[in-house]
Amino acid sequence: MNSCLEIPSWIFPIEPYKGESLSHFLGRFRRANYASSSELGQKTGLGGVLARWEKFRFIPPPSQKQLEALAQVVQLEVEQLRLLLPPQGVAMKHEPIRVCTACYEEKPYHRLEWQFKDTRGCDRHQLRLLSECPSCGKRFKIPALWVEGHCHNCQTQFTGMKRYQKEM
Ligand SMILES: [Zn+2]
Ligand SMILES: [Zn+2]
Repeated sequence: MNSCLEIPSWIFPIEPYKGESLSHFLGRFRRANYASSSELGQKTGLGGVLARWEKFRFIPPPSQKQLEALAQVVQLEVEQLRLLLPPQGVAMKHEPIRVCTACYEEKPYHRLEWQFKDTRGCDRHQLRLLSECPSCGKRFKIPALWVEGHCHNCQTQFTGMKRYQKEM
């Protein structure tokens, strides 16, 4: 079997950022490639599993075979994909979606470690994470849907929310 033939010609590959969550990466990839979640599910043969991963639902954990299928379509190595996933034994928090807006201000993307169950705040900035919009009180949408970096409900920008993060 020649696997090269299976790489769709429509792919515009993107590089993952350091510590980026899979959800945020998949959102960027889909937008760069004008693909919906279900289209990407089809191309990879992973179906609705991808939508679950975008919500940080990794039980059961992604199999090697599933990661190979995704890696082929997004044109990354499986090892690169694993960096976007929780390390073995690390429990994830599905909800609420959390953000250190000081980190986001430096580079606008969702960090995987913000959804670790044990994460209490941002070590880098010594700030607690925000788990809801300080302006309207709504929870943040999944990072796959973060495009402009603002609250989907009231449009308040993430940059500028830093003052609402309590010190650790
Ligand atoms: Zn931070
Ligand atoms: Zn809001």
